[in-house]
Amino acid sequence: MSAPELAGSTAVVTGGASGIGLATARLLSARGARVACLDLEPDGVPDPLIGIRADVSDDDAVRTAVEQAARLLGGIDILVNNAGIGAQGTIEDNPDDEWRRVFDVNVFGIVRTTRAALPHLRRSSHAAIVNTCSIAATAGLPDRALYSATKGAVLSLTRATAADLVHDGIRVNCVNPGTADTPWIARLLDRADDPEAERAALTARQPLGRLVTADEVAAAIAYLASPLSGSTTGTDLAVDGGMSGLRVRPP
Ligand code: NAD
Repeated sequence: MSAPELAGSTAVVTGGASGIGLATARLLSARGARVACLDLEPDGVPDPLIGIRADVSDDDAVRTAVEQAARLLGGIDILVNNAGIGAQGTIEDNPDDEWRRVFDVNVFGIVRTTRAALPHLRRSSHAAIVNTCSIAATAGLPDRALYSATKGAVLSLTRATAADLVHDGIRVNCVNPGTADTPWIARLLDRADDPEAERAALTARQPLGRLVTADEVAAAIAYLASPLSGSTTGTDLAVDGGMSGLRVRPP
């Protein structure tokens, strides 16, 4: 039997204790990688994943956590910048402090973690960075001005960083999930007056007729993280049930 595709590789996944991050960490691990999950709440991370507590909006905490991960894993080949938080509202609805708080996690979190991991990634023969972006980056979603602006920044940061790191042999790509059925969406539905009706409304907007699964997004991230995508850098891959590309209504 041949070795699993990521045997001997090492990976750090931010926001790796829930949803898309946890599904990604599990999949990378199943494919042979040693994986550390950096998260605000890493205690529930199952073996053999390594949970490390870190807030991506805290520069010192990120540096310490990334160094700890590199030491425990024996290097870093793959960085998945996945930690993110949501924000509702139009451009008028959120005060400046809220704009700073969400940018601090969704955008500067990626900047900090990438900077901290780069010395380790540069030592790898097959380094890859995958950022979790969103269809919100380009879709023009109503009532999501702040969140969309952060993801627009993630998309351009992905492309620019890919250009800057191409001669270091480090590939940089992102995935754009649509509506993925994670604890994030569960919290959103819990806040609705009628969660079941809200879920039905969300589902009705999906051309494929159902929500995206965390495992499907994880599969796209694992592809972009692995040598199978060795000729791909500076791209974004939609995993969105057809939402961004199609002009059809669901059945
Ligand atoms: P989730 O809430 O299930 O998981 C997010 C994880 O990130 C949690 O474990 C949380 O503790 C962690 N986290 C949050 N802030 C952090 C911080 N400051 N430092 C470290 N960890 C932190 O959410 P999810 O749905 O899995 O979302 C993951 C990513 O996918 C986010 O970047 C989100 O913007 C993106 N995304 C999600 C959807 C969706 O529909 N679920 C759609 C598009 C994009």
